[in-house]
Amino acid sequence: MWIIEKMEASMHKSLFIPGPVNVRPDVLEKMATPMIGHRTKEASVLQRSISDKLRKLMYTKEEIILSTSSGSGLMEAAVKSCTKKKVAAFAVGAFGERWHKMATANGIPADRFDSEWGQPTTPEMVEKALSTGEYDVITITHNETSTGIMNPLDEIAEVVKKYPDVIFCLDTVSSLGGAKIEVDKWGVDICIASTQKCLGLPAGLALCSLSQKAYEKAKTVENRGLYFDLVSLYDTIQKKDYQYPSTPSLSHMFALDYQLDRIMEEGMENRFNKHLEQAKVVRAWAKKHFDMLAEEKYASNTLTTIKNTKEISVADLNKKLAERGFMISNGYGALKEKTFRIAHMADTTMEEVNEILSVIEDILGL
Ligand SMILES: *Cc1c(COP(=O)(O)O)cnc(C)c1O
Repeated sequence: MWIIEKMEASMHKSLFIPGPVNVRPDVLEKMATPMIGHRTKEASVLQRSISDKLRKLMYTKEEIILSTSSGSGLMEAAVKSCTKKKVAAFAVGAFGERWHKMATANGIPADRFDSEWGQPTTPEMVEKALSTGEYDVITITHNETSTGIMNPLDEIAEVVKKYPDVIFCLDTVSSLGGAKIEVDKWGVDICIASTQKCLGLPAGLALCSLSQKAYEKAKTVENRGLYFDLVSLYDTIQKKDYQYPSTPSLSHMFALDYQLDRIMEEGMENRFNKHLEQAKVVRAWAKKHFDMLAEEKYASNTLTTIKNTKEISVADLNKKLAERGFMISNGYGALKEKTFRIAHMADTTMEEVNEILSVIEDILGL
């Protein structure tokens, strides 16, 4: 018997973790579309169609790059392809820290600017760093999945705009498709996301917007690597009509194109509001029974990080949830037992949010 079949009965759970998320059966089915050649007209049409739809979702006129990797691949690509001087990496949690590590692991000079976990990156912090003139790349996390912080991008973007020589890289891995990301208005040069979070697909494909400015800059940078070289990815799309240098996951492409149609049908604003309403419900619940890690003003719309003020065993809670077919996330890293996280992203419905909260209440006797 196939190993997966043996595990199946105990394996499947309704996921309230911040990726991977539950994938709708009709979207999952599109992954099983019969294979096509990646150098065919059909592949070009498919990939161009995805890029056109993503431009709408990202509110941008710039080029879109698809990458067969998870989002981390393009995060590494961004710092590696665009840095000549030094990266200013702002961290409000684990993913911001990781972006700094990606730079240093590639031998790229980088400084990290930390906020206390639970606090946002402030425009003042950004101003202070960029005004030194030391940096030519800035990395910001829009929605920090470890702490449940959504950074004030309107204000941060105003500061970054004062430094037109700086390449603005933004991590929207856990927010694109779940909250409004206005790439051109914010002046973001490289905006990155993965498929397994708010977009509601399996993991394995990443995407980013790439501004003309970032492309021109990258052309002047040495040692950009090969697989994740943004210049080569961009050039190939232009020369080969939206095809890629290496073989992409066409299965993801079929499903993503379909899912983007669904998102447009739902209405982008409706989708963003849906997650905000879900966030409000989870925040109210968190404040009633526990507390929130983030100040409400900076709380994420796509997941809520709850402070474990009752000192429950998060591991036990998840074990009991598993018996009933659910899964939430414990805290990240140092926050493992100090917080727990409930995601409300992708195609999660309000009924499902209410259900998970009442199941948790039942288990904990709240
Ligand atoms: C999940 C996540 C990442 C990493 O993305 P992968 O697709 O797993 O590589 C980066 N940043 C944030 C904010 C995330 O939530």
